[in-house]
Amino acid sequence: MRVTFPHMGDTWIGVKAMLEYLDVEVLMPPPCTKKTMVLGSEHAPEFACMPLKLNLGNYIEASELGANTIMMTGGCGPCRLGYYAQVQDTILQDLGYSYKMVVLEPPEKHITELFSKIRYITGNNSWWKVIKGIHFGYSKIKMVDELNKKACWARPREINRGDTDRALESAKQKIINVEYTKDLSAVHQEVLEIIDQVPVDKDRDVIKIGIVGEIFTLLEPFINFDIERRLGYMGAEVDRSLNLSEWINDHLFLSINKKMRSCKESRMASPPYLNHNVGGHGQETIGSTVLYARRNFDGVIQLLPFTCMPEIVAQTILPGVSNELSIPVLTLIMDEHSGEAGTVTRLEAFMDLLSRKKQKKEVLA
Ligand code: SF4
Repeated sequence: MRVTFPHMGDTWIGVKAMLEYLDVEVLMPPPCTKKTMVLGSEHAPEFACMPLKLNLGNYIEASELGANTIMMTGGCGPCRLGYYAQVQDTILQDLGYSYKMVVLEPPEKHITELFSKIRYITGNNSWWKVIKGIHFGYSKIKMVDELNKKACWARPREINRGDTDRALESAKQKIINVEYTKDLSAVHQEVLEIIDQVPVDKDRDVIKIGIVGEIFTLLEPFINFDIERRLGYMGAEVDRSLNLSEWINDHLFLSINKKMRSCKESRMASPPYLNHNVGGHGQETIGSTVLYARRNFDGVIQLLPFTCMPEIVAQTILPGVSNELSIPVLTLIMDEHSGEAGTVTRLEAFMDLLSRKKQKKEVLA
């Protein structure tokens, strides 16, 4: 069995580590590129949301490398994620790919359904070893999230352009290379120091932007044109409203880590603008925008794939939130036709607007 799974930002670092800890052979698709997008878009229904198309491109590319088992998460609730696996499976079969698809999702009848799928992937490993594997992979995901957060702070303040990204890449590589749980804490310390050593101007005045929206578009730099890095170079400190380690803590570990930011905070902040779940992260998008306004952020950017139902609901509500709380919001909708130059122009214009607004506020203060 050679297992593959779709890309979503740095997620692969933790998932690959977990599977290899359990002696599962992993075949990663190459990072998402234009080719991945073309392969996925060619064979997916045109109206499907972009993550489905990119996932499909990942599977086709991984199959060409020899993968024969797909592991993916499914879902339930009022959006299309719950139907992804079935659509992708049918398309792959029609194209003649022979994959076994293992969908990890909330069980329909009994928890044993989920356990048997985990058992299929993890083979004869004891449940104790499976738990240790999950812990190993999750620890890496948490460290990478922590590094990305630090990099978002350092990038707009760095003295030499590119230092933060060079440090970030070398720190991530060290995390990727860790093979044993016992080495994690030493490496943790080492990688934090790598980012801390980037020369920065701590007093530089920066624009603060919160990024909200659909999780795949938030986490995958290919689909969002590497928005965190671009904004950083334009002089903005970016805060991502949702990180993978937080999502896992909330949804898979039942919020066991109480110190970690939780989606409950943003859901509680969303009324009276949106009082209930609309699927995906629609409610969190509204709540996080409210929270960013309360924290005096200069602006918010909403990211969503074209036709993403929960985020379209949020998009229609955001102008009201923006007006009432006086926080500028820019919505960027991504699909296979999105152009890099157009996106960068919109980001530059938004940055311009935010710095003028900030200057005006400072003059009046
Ligand atoms: S949240 Fe949006 S992009 Fe993700 S599966 Fe649902 S509809 Fe598609």
